[in-house]
Amino acid sequence: MTVTTAMTGSRATGAPVAISASGLSKRYGDKVVLDGIDLTIPEGTIFALLGPNGAGKTTTVQILSTLISADAGEVRVAGHDLAVEADAIRASIGVTGQFSAVDNLLTARENLMLMADLNHLDRREGRRRSAGLLDRFELTEAATKPVSTFSGGMRRKLDLAMTLVGDPRVIFLDEPTTGLDPRSRRTMWEIIRSLVVDDGVTIFLTTQYLEEADQLADRIAVLDQGRLVAEGTAEELKRRIPGGHIRLRFADEGALHAADALFDPVGLVRDDEALTLRIPSDGSVPALRAVLDVLDGASIVAEALTVHTPDLDDVFLTLTGQTRSSDAPADPQKGNVR
Ligand code: ADP
Repeated sequence: MTVTTAMTGSRATGAPVAISASGLSKRYGDKVVLDGIDLTIPEGTIFALLGPNGAGKTTTVQILSTLISADAGEVRVAGHDLAVEADAIRASIGVTGQFSAVDNLLTARENLMLMADLNHLDRREGRRRSAGLLDRFELTEAATKPVSTFSGGMRRKLDLAMTLVGDPRVIFLDEPTTGLDPRSRRTMWEIIRSLVVDDGVTIFLTTQYLEEADQLADRIAVLDQGRLVAEGTAEELKRRIPGGHIRLRFADEGALHAADALFDPVGLVRDDEALTLRIPSDGSVPALRAVLDVLDGASIVAEALTVHTPDLDDVFLTLTGQTRSSDAPADPQKGNVR
């Protein structure tokens, strides 16, 4: 197996690479589930694989975490080649999935001790680490209660705590907050962030929630029907989608009309009542500067300026060709920005 140089260091940052994949493919029968996926994820970052149901997210996690094999492609995780060092990868990673490993009949502490045994920690070290994790995840009070009495949020926290017993360098989180209420979701986000900031781990998470990717991820890849249709930071992805604009407000109609005459009329929207001018723009700094330079050149002063970049919903829906589902009401603020 050949190892390409792109796998030893991130081109963008020069940081060591935690996960890389090239040409990853998987089919079940006639169905192509992954159709040549390429990924490079630097150490100490959060990467979100975003996609609708059935896009192939879980399949990707299962392959990268050694649970199932790919039909083709090369994978390196935590410095090891999946084709020859799957055991070493397993020893370096943690996986929490939609199907939790938590045993309902045991208490939280017993679950953690079980993981300590599986990780060959001695009793003393197992107890020490369990207590630390219970404390960190605010589960100490519930430590001796059976997990069957836990809320969904507590169960997810315990699941993640169990993953951490083995001190993994790379953690795969498959839809970590699906089904959680908004408050528990925010708690999970804080915990996930702390893993990267405090422990320096690398996180590969899958999600259907655009906000989750936006909140957590350093980089986002959008998976649709087994193909990566876009990759970048949340801001980069938003900028790729038309619909962004700069909105200028003026002190009076004279200034508004004078400004109106300066810009390309295509897509320009003037609101005489609100004294605003809407100029199509990708919202980037150079685009913003260009608009301000035009105003400056004509000695026109804008009273207020706002930049509207499309949100990830726009990106996602445009890239995956999906329509907004009826049970996900449109953001009421959107009406203001279009
Ligand atoms: P996601 O996690 O994005 O919802 P999955 O990776 O679970 O998507 O599934 C991608 C596609 O692969 C789906 O169409 C699913 O039905 C199919 N698939 C997944 N696992 C199997 C399997 N073991 N056998 C047959 N088809 C599968």
